[in-house]
Amino acid sequence: MSYFLCDEFQKMEPYIPGEQPKDQAYIKLNANESSLPPSPRVFDAVSQSRIRGMGHYADPHCKQLRKAIGDVYGVNADRVFVGNGADEVLGFCFMSFFSPRMKLCFPDITYDFYRTYAKTNRIDFEQIPLDADFHVNVEDYIATDRDIVLANPNNPTGLALSVSDIERVVAVRPKRLVIIDEAYIDYGNESCIPLTEKYANLIVVQTFSKSRNLAGARIGFAIASKEIIEDMNKIKFTFNPFNMSAFALAAGSAAVQDTTYLEKCVHSVLATRVRVQKALEKMNFFVAEPHANFLFVSHPYISGGELCKMLKERGILVRHYDEARIRDYVRMTIGTGEEMDKVLQQLHEILQEVK
Ligand code: PMP
Repeated sequence: MSYFLCDEFQKMEPYIPGEQPKDQAYIKLNANESSLPPSPRVFDAVSQSRIRGMGHYADPHCKQLRKAIGDVYGVNADRVFVGNGADEVLGFCFMSFFSPRMKLCFPDITYDFYRTYAKTNRIDFEQIPLDADFHVNVEDYIATDRDIVLANPNNPTGLALSVSDIERVVAVRPKRLVIIDEAYIDYGNESCIPLTEKYANLIVVQTFSKSRNLAGARIGFAIASKEIIEDMNKIKFTFNPFNMSAFALAAGSAAVQDTTYLEKCVHSVLATRVRVQKALEKMNFFVAEPHANFLFVSHPYISGGELCKMLKERGILVRHYDEARIRDYVRMTIGTGEEMDKVLQQLHEILQEVK
């Protein structure tokens, strides 16, 4: 640590994403990335952008990508904000709307980035405990007067709220901002995007990192009222006008238009998820009702930490959290059918060993 780091950051733990070791070829199921390739249209679009666009800064208004996203979701481009991954979009939301000492809340078990961003923006945050069975209790969020961030489906539990429950939260206090992070919405869930027509206090955030198989390209977006998007663009232009590379803009525009490919990928992940869930339950795993491209599981014979370690020794990375309430669990991304067959085989052997 240098002498110069601000006092409030000195004791702060940085957000650590799922580990990315390179010492061997792992089956990587610890960061909810996709094992499928992006739409073939992405490669054509990126190679075109290389020829035409590399020498100049890319469009800071990101017009083409905002329009492409707007067209797919049935909203005007002026209601779409794009960023360098959903993380950056969330970062701009926090920066734009939550000033230091403002009051914010989110669940105690959720995407860890919210806590990191609240801390770096010096926001007064409260983490509301999930129910005993890890569900978000909607009544808690209806009752609070704090601004709200909710991942729906939640990460790492994979559990989801209905749009009608979220609408109750949004509708009850029109002056309170609600951010719904729909990183995993495409895996069979209903989006809140249509509610942004009706409610000026709602921001819906999504990503291209999961169902569109483009985690490495870093593309995320928000849909909200025209006024909210104008505010976010004002802040973005102040801090980082060229936040999107020419590659990301080209890749994103091509990917979002290929809705047939998206459906095909989602269908394949869901089919594998059903198959793996059944196999795990047969092995006596508890599997939280899944709504995303991952499973949140525990087993009576083995702790989450031990399971994570034994899988890593066998070349498989899953995510374990060192938090008291979920120490028994691991989160496992759904990989390809072949990868998951290997995982099931290894789990079978591990359980024989620990029995
Ligand atoms: N929100 C949630 C709930 C996530 O799980 C993730 C990725 N792990 C993100 C946002 C970030 O997505 P991106 O890769 O677009 O930054």
